[in-house]
Amino acid sequence: MKWFFPESADESVHLFRQGFKPHGGGTFLIKTSLNVPGLFDLSLVNDFKNFEDDGTHLSIGSALSYHDSAVLLESASDGNFFSAALLSAASTPLRNRITVGGSIYALPKWSDIAAPLAAAEGLIVPADDDTPVGIYEYIDDRELKKSILISSIKLPKQNLNGSYYRFTLTGFDYPFFTIAASDRGRGVFRIAVSGTRSGIQIFSGSGDSMLSEAKSNLSFSDERGISGKYLKMRALIQLKRIIRAEE
Ligand SMILES: Cc1cc2nc3c(=O)[nH]c(=O)nc-3n(C[C@H](O)[C@H](O)[C@H](O)COP(=O)(O)OP(=O)(O)OC[C@H]3O[C@@H](n4cnc5c(N)ncnc54)[C@H](O)[C@@H]3O)c2cc1C
Repeated sequence: MKWFFPESADESVHLFRQGFKPHGGGTFLIKTSLNVPGLFDLSLVNDFKNFEDDGTHLSIGSALSYHDSAVLLESASDGNFFSAALLSAASTPLRNRITVGGSIYALPKWSDIAAPLAAAEGLIVPADDDTPVGIYEYIDDRELKKSILISSIKLPKQNLNGSYYRFTLTGFDYPFFTIAASDRGRGVFRIAVSGTRSGIQIFSGSGDSMLSEAKSNLSFSDERGISGKYLKMRALIQLKRIIRAEE
């Protein structure tokens, strides 16, 4: 297999268009069949390692690791839930490898970036086109997803207040589900739950109406010996805690 080490966004886009695949942290790629003509490593591409604060949005380069992204985010938005989520994932060595771009493309069921991105209404910025793509459009449209080399993600600063919860059985474990709650003020939330039967479920609004919607619609499959019914109960308890903490 061929390996490439581009140093700019343009070089990376060129390789991507030739059918080579990007290598972020490599933590997901190592589990796949690697049936590709070649890989290009993004670790030398400074264009994909930028962090910017334009006053309304924070941009995180796709080749930044979970750890570096969390630290930079924290310095620009004190106490935000996105950093908390990234810093709770996996282990210290893995957080130093896992990249934002690779994680959004792979988006495994246990992802710690999926719910925060959906709750914050984050946008994905392609490397060859400045027009950002919404997270749902990106997930739902497989052809679009395959055609995008992610340059960065953009997070609206005003959506980053809130909290993050991940349900695991031990400290170092893949979460069964995660809950990211974006607190929009005056008791209004946009809450994303990942790991559900349909992937990421969103509940928005205030207090009891949101809770009753979650009671009716939230749904989990049985997983690793734990029933979907139990997972739903645990998620509802956490949603109640989030709402009551605001009251
Ligand atoms: C033991 C273990 C435990 C883990 N636990 C957690 C956890 O608790 N929470 C969590 O969130 N994650 C966890 N992860 C990480 C998660 O499973 C994925 O492996 C990770 O998110 C992939 O990121 P990466 O940078 O390593 O991607 P890579 O493996 O480099 O790439 C993954 C895919 O994305 C593509 N890609 C890479 N960069 C880009 C880009 N810029 N644009 C478009 N496509 C791109 C690649 O071509 C590949 O198809 C864990 C991983 C391991 C090994």
